[in-house]
Amino acid sequence: MRQITGETKLFGILADPIHHVKTPQRMNEHFARANYDGVLVPFHATPDNLATVLDGLRKLENLVGLIVTVPHKTAVLELCDDASDTTRKIGAANVVRREPNGRLTAHMLDGEGFVRGLQSGGHDIKGKSAYMAGAGGAANAIAFGLVQYGVSRLTIANRTVAKAEDLKARILDIHPQAHIDIGTADPSGHDLVVNATSLGLKEGDALPMDVNKLDAGQLVCEVIMQPEETALLLAARKRGCAVHYGAPMLASQIELMAEFLGVSNSK
Ligand code: NDP
Repeated sequence: MRQITGETKLFGILADPIHHVKTPQRMNEHFARANYDGVLVPFHATPDNLATVLDGLRKLENLVGLIVTVPHKTAVLELCDDASDTTRKIGAANVVRREPNGRLTAHMLDGEGFVRGLQSGGHDIKGKSAYMAGAGGAANAIAFGLVQYGVSRLTIANRTVAKAEDLKARILDIHPQAHIDIGTADPSGHDLVVNATSLGLKEGDALPMDVNKLDAGQLVCEVIMQPEETALLLAARKRGCAVHYGAPMLASQIELMAEFLGVSNSK
């Protein structure tokens, strides 16, 4: 690690619990590669004290920004001063930039991270049809990302159908021309198939969709990073599908967060 001095720019990640977060390692590696004089440290903020913590952090003149993760992604948006229309419609943020006057600008990069992760694997989504299982936090951002980056149509399938309907309505508020359907467990008839639920994290979890309906022409994508090879991806491989792992989404988000926070390559 580079030496920390009085010139070093400060970044933090807010989470509860904090011990498991991987972002400090990834972002500090990014700073080192870019020869950037910055450091990202973990801040353990609980939901009860998030507002107080943010109020203190905004007063720090050498703070550049914050990464925000579970359980603060929704609450932080309300506590920031500015956010794009899309971030407000998603209803959650995972990065906050401190402006020179102390104002806080919130942004959500899960969706762009997912799309850029696909692009880094050589997968262009423009004009493709997409099926997404899930309507939770990650799914919200991914759905906006898929539509923003030009899928021809999107089918959203979720256990709680009302959440899928609500997500559809919020996307249509920003993208009125988008073609969005509410789906079932059947992912057939789509080029791209995405698991954006938490099913697959634990051994013995049910599959997030009917894998017997997958066919070899489809690209099946995960958001889950651990385990790397989920039961869905195993089943998809068996059916001859191409697969895309959860890890590139995080790797791409590190790049996007650095861009949003103005980290420049000083080499
Ligand atoms: P949420 O709790 O917000 O959403 C969970 C989703 O899974 C909901 O759609 C929920 O359906 C569905 N679900 C959960 N249990 C079941 C079940 N038993 N049967 C059917 N559906 C179920 O979680 P997040 O969106 O925040 O996270 C989802 C996953 O995304 C996690 O595994 C997380 O690790 C991963 N993730 C990965 C990232 C990356 O960079 N690779 C970044 C962010 C998240 P319902 O609405 O009906 O409850």
